[in-house]
Amino acid sequence: MKDVNWIENKDGSLWLTEDDRGNLQIRYRLKDILFSEQSPFQHVAIVDTADFGRTLVLDGVVQTTAIDGHIYNEMITHVPIHLHPNPKKVLIIGGGDCGAARELTKYEGIEQIDMVEIDELVVKACKTHLPEVSGNLSDPRVHFIFDDGVKFVKEKENEYDCIIVDSSDPVGPAEVLFEYDFYASLKRALKEDGLMVCQSQSPIFHQSILKQTVTHIRNLFPDSKTYTAVVPTYPGGLWSFTIGSKKYPIDPKAARKENVKTKYFNRKILESCFILPEFMKELLNE
Ligand code: SAM
Repeated sequence: MKDVNWIENKDGSLWLTEDDRGNLQIRYRLKDILFSEQSPFQHVAIVDTADFGRTLVLDGVVQTTAIDGHIYNEMITHVPIHLHPNPKKVLIIGGGDCGAARELTKYEGIEQIDMVEIDELVVKACKTHLPEVSGNLSDPRVHFIFDDGVKFVKEKENEYDCIIVDSSDPVGPAEVLFEYDFYASLKRALKEDGLMVCQSQSPIFHQSILKQTVTHIRNLFPDSKTYTAVVPTYPGGLWSFTIGSKKYPIDPKAARKENVKTKYFNRKILESCFILPEFMKELLNE
């Protein structure tokens, strides 16, 4: 691979070194590099790793893999969708690997899924080289919009039942997706009974971002809650998601019953994922 410094050939083996914001490095042995191109926004690669299979890498950072991508994509979609009584129009911001959109297409009641992704090259690469995550998505309810999520959502009002912020880390084009004004725009873009979810980073390594995200959402939405899942390829494993709801209390016991086929998510996980460990309760003043 030309011009990238996160892949090296060591003693005949290819290694990807992911650098988590200068403090931690995680190394993956690669079997192959399937796709590698620079877009106007970031470097996009699909590599085949020894343990996690095909993997999307943006600017050297692992985004999703064939082996554990479903955990993240099921948790960022099925949890909020079960908590809304009748979601029909859903917006995804980011989500270029198409895994979140693919999960949403499992619901017959959802009529429209708008996906606003800044980088068309991510979608093209994942549809071609990462079918384990994207499922070669071609459902007519999914509308791809290649634009900046911040700009798109600013122009919307009272339109969506549910908004899913499936962003990359708060560096590069996704930095703005962690700011207060963006969450205020999300609130406006939601219907009066809508709810939103975002990935709120690692409770181990990114505590200040998690706390800042939760504070923004608490200041804007009458009800908010953080939940977790373990995603092995994300630094620290334990990952957080935060929901903000304009009207409905976030009560997993009262959630809708739906029959969707999943590999990770189930009813008991929906009920237990909101149970936080002591250090997170303390961090978030719960
Ligand atoms: N599951 C992954 C994770 O947490 O690491 C991330 C999913 S997805 C690959 C993230 C997507 O957000 C990327 O494809 C990136 O291009 C997109 N993105 C980043 N900034 C954006 C913005 N301002 N507007 C829309 N999409 C954005």
